[in-house]
Amino acid sequence: MPTAYFNPPECRRHDMGDGHPECPERLAAIDDWLIGSGLSQALDYREARPAELRDVELAHTHGYVAEIGELLRGCAETGGRCAVDPDTSANAHTWSAALHAAGAAVQATDLVIDGGADNAFCAVRPPGHHATRDQSMGFCFFNNVAIAARHALDRRGLKRVAIVDFDVHHGNGTEDIIAGDDRVLMVSLFQHPLYPYSGAVPKGTNMVNVPLPPYTRGAEVREIVEAMWLPALERFKPQMIFVSAGFDAHRDDDLGQLGLVEADYEWITLKVKDVAARHAKGRIVSVLEGGYHLHALSRSVAVHLRALADL
Ligand SMILES: [Zn+2]
Repeated sequence: MPTAYFNPPECRRHDMGDGHPECPERLAAIDDWLIGSGLSQALDYREARPAELRDVELAHTHGYVAEIGELLRGCAETGGRCAVDPDTSANAHTWSAALHAAGAAVQATDLVIDGGADNAFCAVRPPGHHATRDQSMGFCFFNNVAIAARHALDRRGLKRVAIVDFDVHHGNGTEDIIAGDDRVLMVSLFQHPLYPYSGAVPKGTNMVNVPLPPYTRGAEVREIVEAMWLPALERFKPQMIFVSAGFDAHRDDDLGQLGLVEADYEWITLKVKDVAARHAKGRIVSVLEGGYHLHALSRSVAVHLRALADL
């Protein structure tokens, strides 16, 4: 089965203003690279429906979903811009983009569980891993990966799923949602201290948090993955693996100071695939988080996809 690729066009219309690093051009750059390299021909392009509110409420409180929905639908009706936090704002298309991003993650999960694809990648924005149960922050509105993981557990009957997060920033929102939920193991690495300045002390025994000092290079990251992530994943035996695939730990990315390169993303992806092959029937759903250097982002997504797709 080919790797499924979700790239809902609605996600390109969310725009937080000129000069904002989390920009629509990120998705355009990825798509251009996939087409230019010929990789697009090997992927199974899928359309995404918007998530329903009951999907979003798998990971977020009813009160938060009602409140952010009112705000974002208001933006959509007036065409105005509204600020959510100092780094995060919405335009008329944000509500639709956020629902399509979460919807893609949920539909990718169903597709992979139902055997329609071995694995899937969702090229979506807004990203999700900073969105907590009841708060949007750090460019994120809905926690796409946490919603999909809960969908797999609560609705599709899986007993154990893992979340792998290699974004340069700590996935505080995902931790907030799943800490203490022993059906989920989250393994992450992130630069520390760096926004959102959390993660050094895990909030639950189901979290493997690896804070890294600035300028940590790929060779050291690989050693840490071997020593800390992989044994925990092996013990946990996840039935499906979700990836918070942020590519801002790349050496060229200005939002962090880690030193990963494309070969490191390929290596990590192959290690995650090994675990998935042994315990999870190969089931992986990977969802874009950060990654702000457009060229490094596109190249890194491409090697991630090549590894996922066995190309
Ligand atoms: Zn990030």
